[in-house]
Amino acid sequence: MSSVGFVGLGCMGSHMARNLLKRGRQVVAFDVDPKRAAELKADGAEIVKHPADVAAATKELVTMLPNSAIVRSVYKESNGILATIRAGSLCIDSSTIDQSASIEIASLVAEKQSAYVDAPVSGGVGGAQAGTLTFMVGGDQPHFDQAKPLLELMGKTVVHCGAVGTGQAAKICNNMLLGIQMIGVAEAMNLGIKMGLDPKLLASIINTSSGRCWSSDTYNPVPNVIEGIPPSKNYVGGFGTTLMTKDLGLAQTASTEAKAPTPLGSLAHQLYQILSKHPDFKDKDFGVVYQFLKNN
Ligand code: NAD
Repeated sequence: MSSVGFVGLGCMGSHMARNLLKRGRQVVAFDVDPKRAAELKADGAEIVKHPADVAAATKELVTMLPNSAIVRSVYKESNGILATIRAGSLCIDSSTIDQSASIEIASLVAEKQSAYVDAPVSGGVGGAQAGTLTFMVGGDQPHFDQAKPLLELMGKTVVHCGAVGTGQAAKICNNMLLGIQMIGVAEAMNLGIKMGLDPKLLASIINTSSGRCWSSDTYNPVPNVIEGIPPSKNYVGGFGTTLMTKDLGLAQTASTEAKAPTPLGSLAHQLYQILSKHPDFKDKDFGVVYQFLKNN
């Protein structure tokens, strides 16, 4: 079986590439960080010097990169994927980026007689490691059908959302709602505790009442309400305030382009911008918004 190309071996991509190796695929990979590349080499991947080398060696390519600007450069720079991509290749971008960036790259890839799908994920680092990610895929039906078996080596659920860019739309809407919900739960928990309620009791009432949501029953931001999650481990690990700020920013761009008002999404973006610059909160899990509200 031919090799899979992988660019971006960070918190998510390293686990995803490792799952491809574990499930019998050979991997040709690149990351700008030599330490990340060396770690995957130790697990059996072939490491190359540029994204162009990945595209020259493989016809199925996965990218898992931090933001739109970096995805654009990995495709478009002189040593990028588009420089060497072979006709008939399939490109899967699992980064969370602007819908417009996905659509632009898809058309550049089409000019090379190749296919592109956007396939952002939910499930976090734990899901990437366990191979249980959910992929939200945008692309033509035949390209989705082609991508699905590969995605199933890295995830449990693969959903076709529609044309190119709709995977990003689904991801951006979900994460905007997540940010709003987390702030709402943090506000309610802080208020209730300051009104004299026991945190675990308040959480259990919310979780059997109409205020229940993922941020209250699975990822409660108050320390020790739920053991083992980042809020109970000084907000270390998990989903950082910087990534949440980025995703809420993508929602704001989308809201402007689609002319769909998102007043709470906008407020959530402003709050997480403050957190992502604050020395006490910038490197912490996004549940830390509870500490910000508690102390202000
Ligand atoms: P990360 O910062 O840990 O990893 C990104 C990797 O890309 C790093 O190893 C970095 O060295 C590499 N990189 C940067 N520029 C590069 C370039 N020009 N060429 C090659 N490699 C380059 O980020 P992550 O947590 O793995 O997230 C990746 C994407 O997945 C982001 O878009 C993020 O929003 C999304 N995401 C993350 C999570 C999460 O919980 N971390 C969950 C869902 C989605």
